[in-house]
Amino acid sequence: MNIETKFLHAGYEPKNGEPRQLPIYQSTTWKYASSDDMGKLFDLEASGYFYTRLQNPTNDMVAAKLAALEGGVAAMLTSSGQAANFFALFNICETGSHIVASSAIYGGTYNLLGVTMKKMGIDVTFVDQDLPEEELAKAFRPNTRALFGETITNPTVTVLDIEKFARLAHSHGVPLIVDNTFATPANCRPIEFGADIVTHSTTKYMDGHAISVGGAIIDSGNFDWMAHADMYPGLTTPDESYHGITYTERFGLGGAYITKAVAQLMRDLGSQVAPMNAFLLNMGLETLHLRMARHCENALAVAKFLSGQKNVEWINYPGLEGNKYYELAKKLMPGGTCGVITFGVKGGRAAAEKFMAGLELASIATHVADAKTCVLHPASSTHRQMNDDELRAAGVSPDLIRLSVGIEDAEDLIADIKQALDNI
Ligand code: PLP
Repeated sequence: MNIETKFLHAGYEPKNGEPRQLPIYQSTTWKYASSDDMGKLFDLEASGYFYTRLQNPTNDMVAAKLAALEGGVAAMLTSSGQAANFFALFNICETGSHIVASSAIYGGTYNLLGVTMKKMGIDVTFVDQDLPEEELAKAFRPNTRALFGETITNPTVTVLDIEKFARLAHSHGVPLIVDNTFATPANCRPIEFGADIVTHSTTKYMDGHAISVGGAIIDSGNFDWMAHADMYPGLTTPDESYHGITYTERFGLGGAYITKAVAQLMRDLGSQVAPMNAFLLNMGLETLHLRMARHCENALAVAKFLSGQKNVEWINYPGLEGNKYYELAKKLMPGGTCGVITFGVKGGRAAAEKFMAGLELASIATHVADAKTCVLHPASSTHRQMNDDELRAAGVSPDLIRLSVGIEDAEDLIADIKQALDNI
């Protein structure tokens, strides 16, 4: 199947007489004839369902679709993108571990790594992802366990050189984890460029309609945990909490990582997605390829318009010719990048706020990557926990406006932006 077909058909292929649309298994639990049958499931000796915190058929079918879309071998859904990124990292890190991450990542993930995981004794070094390889290599330590970045960063829409990051990660014996939320597999499949694990906030374009919060983790199955067995004992040595199972031995390179994340992290921490939300996510996925094309087309039209405006100080859209990331974006995302644009208006923070208040069609919302156009001033909202130095390191200037271009008519969007700009 080509990817456009997979958006519709992967993950659930009904047999004769079965429902055409993905069934919602709205049940917390499954019934068995004997305790012995059930015991085999608990011991991971048989596959089957028993409790939705661990697994649910609706959730699993949507996860299978995501694995197919990203070109991975196994996947899992989580209740949010935050949970996905936390699980993706915590599955291979423990107290004493260290992570290297791009400093341009989403504010919530920055906080997760820099504050909450730090409290757990997991250290992080944030790096400027645009630095040359030899500079970035200096951030690695003997206890580094993962390299982390976003295909297109939120909110600065800078493009990650995934191939460079993959080389860097692999030369230090660690996997590259890429959050592919903004590009989506419709535009970029990081595994094709060397990423080992892909994460998503499915809340964004995948859901697409601002109706359900969710996340996902997809494993490429390519990272050889056994080649670095001493660095990843959680995967390569017996798990006493699961009757001494060694995940790499029992499930191989393709199954170890996701099985451990489900059997251990989901078991102990929860954060499972509701089957109803997995169903809604699947509805979003069925049209993702169509919507992404329109988001990109509209964003390019808006970006071109903004570049010619006297009230606009600067504009950043990787799909715009002349942008610093244009060539890299063309290589990684030949079909288009995303619908998010950042720009600054003349007059700084005050003018940015006036511009936003003047918009009539675009709504001010924390949300991004939605069918309806929305706009945000990160310095006073999503990134307000950062001080000025941290903001600068993350590339977020005080005047930065994040415009998430929707799939409305481009002329209507431009007319709205024009009147708000003219009234600053
Ligand atoms: N990753 C990226 C790139 C995001 O933009 C976000 C949220 O905006 C997250 C992760 C967190 O996702 P969620 O809000 O679904 O927890």
